[in-house]
Amino acid sequence: MALFLLFILAALILAYLGGEAIAWSLLLTIGILLYSLIDPSPLGLLLLWAGYIAAITLLNFPDLRRQYLTTRIFGWVSRVLPGLSDTEKEAIAAGTVSWDGELFSGKPNWHHLLNMPKPELSDAEVAFINGPVNELCTQLDDWEITHERYDLPPEIWQFIKDNGFFGMIVPKKYGGLELSALAHSTAVMKIATRSITAAVTVMVPNSLGPSELLMHYGTQKQRDYYLPRLAKGEEIPCFALTGPQAGSDAGAIPDTGIVCKGEWEGKEVIGLRLNWNKRYITLAPVATVLGLAFKVYDPDKLLSDVVDRGVTCALIPTSTPGVQTGARHLPLNTVFMNGPTWGKDVFIPLDYLIGGEDFIGKGWMMLMNCLAVGRAISLPALATGAGKLSSLTSGAYARIREQFGLPIGYFEGVKEALAPIGGLSYIMDSARCMTAGLLDQGEKPSVPSAILKYHNTEKMRKVVGHAMDIHAGRGVIKGPRNYIARVYQAIPISITVEGANILTRSLMIFGQGSIRSHPYLLKEMEAAQMEDREKGLQEFDHVFFKHIHRNVQLVGRSLMLGLTGSLIAEVPEHHPLSKRYFQHLSRFAAAFALLSDVTLMSLGGDLKRREKISARLGDCLSYLYLASSVLKRFHDDGCPREDAPLLDWAVQHCLYNTQQALHETLKNYPSPILAILMRLVIFPLGRNMEPANDITEDAIADLLLHPSAARDRLVEGVYRSTQPDDPIGRVENAFLLKIAAESAEKALKKAIKAGKLDEGLTLDEQLQQAREKNILTESESQKVRDAAEAVDDAIQVDHFHPDELPVTQSD
Ligand SMILES: Cc1cc2nc3c(=O)[nH]c(=O)nc-3n(C[C@H](O)[C@H](O)[C@H](O)COP(=O)(O)OP(=O)(O)OC[C@H]3O[C@@H](n4cnc5c(N)ncnc54)[C@H](O)[C@@H]3O)c2cc1C
Repeated sequence: MALFLLFILAALILAYLGGEAIAWSLLLTIGILLYSLIDPSPLGLLLLWAGYIAAITLLNFPDLRRQYLTTRIFGWVSRVLPGLSDTEKEAIAAGTVSWDGELFSGKPNWHHLLNMPKPELSDAEVAFINGPVNELCTQLDDWEITHERYDLPPEIWQFIKDNGFFGMIVPKKYGGLELSALAHSTAVMKIATRSITAAVTVMVPNSLGPSELLMHYGTQKQRDYYLPRLAKGEEIPCFALTGPQAGSDAGAIPDTGIVCKGEWEGKEVIGLRLNWNKRYITLAPVATVLGLAFKVYDPDKLLSDVVDRGVTCALIPTSTPGVQTGARHLPLNTVFMNGPTWGKDVFIPLDYLIGGEDFIGKGWMMLMNCLAVGRAISLPALATGAGKLSSLTSGAYARIREQFGLPIGYFEGVKEALAPIGGLSYIMDSARCMTAGLLDQGEKPSVPSAILKYHNTEKMRKVVGHAMDIHAGRGVIKGPRNYIARVYQAIPISITVEGANILTRSLMIFGQGSIRSHPYLLKEMEAAQMEDREKGLQEFDHVFFKHIHRNVQLVGRSLMLGLTGSLIAEVPEHHPLSKRYFQHLSRFAAAFALLSDVTLMSLGGDLKRREKISARLGDCLSYLYLASSVLKRFHDDGCPREDAPLLDWAVQHCLYNTQQALHETLKNYPSPILAILMRLVIFPLGRNMEPANDITEDAIADLLLHPSAARDRLVEGVYRSTQPDDPIGRVENAFLLKIAAESAEKALKKAIKAGKLDEGLTLDEQLQQAREKNILTESESQKVRDAAEAVDDAIQVDHFHPDELPVTQSD
């Protein structure tokens, strides 16, 4: 028995270390020789030796292995692997693999994570953020925009155009600002803390729109013409993909472009006759140039022998006869320009196609590649802005708003709501910065961009919900003083656009990641689909056995790390605050990679229908990614001790959610036997991760309730003002005055409690008596008065005379 256990332990260690074929052969040989000496029963020996010979052959004789084993597996895999539509293939092929690939390997290289350059703004970018971006924020009056004008004022449109906001991603040689992804994201984030309407207006031309498409796929002539005009705001672009029939299933657009001959500028040319009906298109009502996606058909074979040419993108001046734009949708109270566009039998020349004739049918690939970039910036930045704004204002408001004789932030119930505001904002910002850093290194991180789109907007939903709870009536009543209600109203918009969230979680994160970021699966699929079957078999054999080897290693890693509390996992730096987190993440990365593989192998193409499994495995991947970004940020910041509560809350939140996602997957696993086996390997000692405790939660609440370097770091990039006539400045000003008056207020309260001051006095009278009795100095009593006045102003809400409200018809 002891020898048997020793053999199992040796096998586990070998699996953990990723032993090669020769090491396994040696271990098996030692094992069988020892067994033959100890228990020479003939039947047992016969079976064992047969198994031994088969294993040694598989490990060491590839030709025999291919002939007798791989051929069968190859045939089976060809049948069960998911069949992919063309649009799915293009979506999967889009972008590049970066940190998501490390997580899928099951053994992420933490040195690599920490050695990735720290995302930083250049001096010129800092000047842009502190200059024009700040100036724009100062000028924005969100109440006027959303409730009086239903648009940005003309001078703001002009400021945006004049200062290059529409050309943030356009190269300098075309007159753009050529900002890094981090700077672009930081600009959008800051504007969003002031006005979501303005942020979306600036965001769209720089995201998935004509500029991005032209820069990558436009002809030189198109770039030379459009990019300088877009950069200066001489052209306002929009991009129209969605229509009434095709929302999430954008590949199903019914809009068509029929290749035909037509008259253009007095000559007969080959072009396209377009018919489209699109809706929800941001900036369409004011666009001068319409980016349009449609399907091209060439029934008369004027361009090639192929009739159905596929999704294609064009840039069409909205002045072209037949183009209909101008009507507006009203997306809640976020009044950025948005509306439908349609056209019937509109003739355009081939020159209008982005990239020209060569790019007919490549529209989906173009869109997916641009989405991999744009989706990582716009909405994640906007959501992080909402998190930072909530952190700044909820902490300040909870400090100045007193009930039951105390700031509401001192009550445990409110602290419980403050903690996730800080913790989730820290996660959002860490993920935003790390992913922008990847973009700036030239990556097109398609899977991380889906993770960010989903998780940052979902975390925005939670954070702003908590902020609303803390502000209570002050957050509910609309008016110029309210800085949080319009962010709250923008949540469903951010959840819906650029890939609606349910779809993104259920289909995209793991669906794309499992194939795109997996070290072997795509290669296996490609081999299984090769026309040259012999070559396919060779390739498949090579990759498949590497895949098996990896899975053996993952079983060893997962089990050994689970049994040892992850203590044996390697760490990149022995920092006391982060070391254990790296170790736990190593364990869950192995567990996730193993469970992914077992699921892919057992479900095959059926996984596409099993959206709940895909979503939960996507959650595992996402939380591992988010936790990685938090650890990177903490180390990039120099491991500041004061940020420890944020680090603890954030990583514990991610670890706990990873564990829950693994558990939920196993609880609902289609095969009960596999579920039991996997549970033994993944949770050998049960589930032992817990979310942050009360001490950590209270520490985050304190961090938000007091000015500090940690608070400043957390909210860095938010529009900040201390002007008493500014919606946010009013609360921040009161907060700072309240903090300055803290010790004087304490002295005053102590004197009242001790009966040193008369009862029933107004504050002014109390202060006067306190001065007369030398309880407070003149300057101290002034501080108390200033704070009280500022707080009184900051807790007020707006009210409107009926004459000020929009006229309503009662009949
Ligand atoms: C304010 C605003 C601005 C926009 N701007 C633009 C723009 O500039 N250009 C543009 O082309 N489009 C734009 N859109 C369109 C946007 O991208 C779509 O709204 C989005 O793709 C979802 O389409 P839908 O609203 O029709 O929802 P539907 O497709 O009807 O989906 C409804 C729900 O079902 C879920 N769902 C659908 N299929 C699945 C599935 N297979 N599995 C799980 N869940 C699923 C979705 O997640 C969603 O929750 C904008 C939309 C809005 C609201």
